[in-house]
Amino acid sequence: MKIKKGDKIQVLSGKDKGRKGEVIRCLPKKLKVLIKGLNIYKKHVKAQSNQPGGIIEIEKPLYVSKVQLICPNCQKKTKVGYQLDKTNKKFRVCKKCKNIIDKEISKK
Ligand SMILES: [Zn+2]
Repeated sequence: MKIKKGDKIQVLSGKDKGRKGEVIRCLPKKLKVLIKGLNIYKKHVKAQSNQPGGIIEIEKPLYVSKVQLICPNCQKKTKVGYQLDKTNKKFRVCKKCKNIIDKEISKK
């Protein structure tokens, strides 16, 4: 997936359109990402012996196609491109400013 844990993203559609958040979990098999504090739904929970019932708020994952990465270098919404380094390892680059997105590689 083009989006990874720890990425800053902006939501492109749906009820949280335009809002920004940080990816806290990736679900590659479902092509979804979980974003901290976004796409929150209320869920009714039945009372159980060890906890009271009520309404809890849960974050639901969003489809990757509905979010766009915010480049850590230029702070703009951007598309992700790929390049290969000397060892043929793929890394992500910002298509707007051409800078490397993946932190672990840009440190070297
Ligand atoms: Zn950029």
